[in-house]
Amino acid sequence: MGPRGLAYAKDINGETLGKILQYLSTRGSDQIIGFEETLLAGLAPDGGLYVPAEWPAVWNGPDTRRLSYAEDAARLMEPFVNGEIDSAALNAITRDAYSEFQHKDVAPLVEIGDGHWLLELFHGPTLSFKDFALQVLSRLFDHVLQRKGERLTVIGATSGDTGSAAIAACQGRANLDIFVLHPLGLISDVQRRQMTSVVAENVHNIAIEGTFDDCQRLVKAMFNDRAFRYDLALAAINSINWARILAQVVYYHVAASRLNDWPPTFAVPTGNFGDVYAGYVAHRTGLPVKRLIVATNRNDILTQSLTTGKHWLGDVTPTITPSMDIQVASNFERLLFEIYDRNGVEISRRMEALGSDGGFTIEAERLNKARTLFTGIAIDETLTLAEMGRVHAETGLLIDPHTAVGVAAARTFVTTENGPVISLATADPAKFPDSVERATGRRPKTPERLAEALVSDEHCDVLPRDLNTLQAYIRSRSRVGT
Ligand SMILES: *Cc1c(COP(=O)(O)O)cnc(C)c1O
Repeated sequence: MGPRGLAYAKDINGETLGKILQYLSTRGSDQIIGFEETLLAGLAPDGGLYVPAEWPAVWNGPDTRRLSYAEDAARLMEPFVNGEIDSAALNAITRDAYSEFQHKDVAPLVEIGDGHWLLELFHGPTLSFKDFALQVLSRLFDHVLQRKGERLTVIGATSGDTGSAAIAACQGRANLDIFVLHPLGLISDVQRRQMTSVVAENVHNIAIEGTFDDCQRLVKAMFNDRAFRYDLALAAINSINWARILAQVVYYHVAASRLNDWPPTFAVPTGNFGDVYAGYVAHRTGLPVKRLIVATNRNDILTQSLTTGKHWLGDVTPTITPSMDIQVASNFERLLFEIYDRNGVEISRRMEALGSDGGFTIEAERLNKARTLFTGIAIDETLTLAEMGRVHAETGLLIDPHTAVGVAAARTFVTTENGPVISLATADPAKFPDSVERATGRRPKTPERLAEALVSDEHCDVLPRDLNTLQAYIRSRSRVGT
């Protein structure tokens, strides 16, 4: 064992081959593990999130432009999976994952103003950026499980884009069964049909007679039931999984490599802090970044935290950007870990305060470290709709409301002195046709993939909000242990 977090790989003669990147928890336990274990575990046993023990340098400048998106993805991810998944397998995984995307650039850049670019992240199977991570995550799972001869039961609750992206990614995978809960009658038709139109033996949609909070409580209760968790080898699909973050780091590097001018600023519509944290990781792995704009809607705990240091939970208000209607931004813990100099004990204490007191305050000296890179900007619904109208009037493009939150926040920053700005376009406008029409008078064209989902038969069972009934349902359908 080398310094904390670095193991040295040895060949059969005991010669040291090189360093292997390892992972540790944000809550300070001493456990240090490799990539595969991090992938399968999701959350650390001490309740923390896994982060790499060090940051490998992976930015190679514009030279990488000659690579395809999938090739660059494998190149960028390789140091993080060091040794555990070989290069050929990793390349096959990214090639296969991104072959499902319907644009030759996978993540095209479109200029919407002088030095202001949109990074279109919605050309995947379910039309949101969530496909970038989940298409890779499901294949990584399958690859690792295949080798171990094991299976997993993936469970999750959804009120938005994660459920459909996870189902699309897991459908038909030999070693995975997926169960997704949504609140009966409480999600949009488009979102429900994107999930329930999928026909695959390993995909199970469950409408719970209750709210989204009931769904989340049931998922948590299943994870807390140790016997059930181990019998069924439960795995989670939310963005606390390090591999999801890793896959998202790629498009920051790829987008920047296509510019002729650095360092760029990125504007990121934010809910759970996963996507913008991936931008932070891109920066830590060598990408020159001028600023990361954390764009929030009126559920603005992150903007408050970055402006005043006060990280206190409020009530969630529903908005036209439902995927950002979040107060508990899980991945923020990973940034706190850095600004507290990787002191897991300090992080544990603050996360306990979040649970018991509803929040904590970040000291000024710590906050200043975050503020050297991050700016929080909250955008209300009036501004969001106005931005959709403005982009349409100026460029003819329709943008989705989540994207508009980021673009509106970016406007406050675009000047020639500040260099290029890249706004992340996180969903296809066709996923939110009513808001788009309200803002622009135009109804977005329904892409073929979505049109099919909208007329297909639906496959979904309705269950009461009862843990025993749900567990019996899952036990009888999961292939784990069979
Ligand atoms: C999930 C989602 C977001 C928020 O991303 P986080 O990683 O949770 O910050 C923004 N826009 C859309 C369309 C999403 O689906």
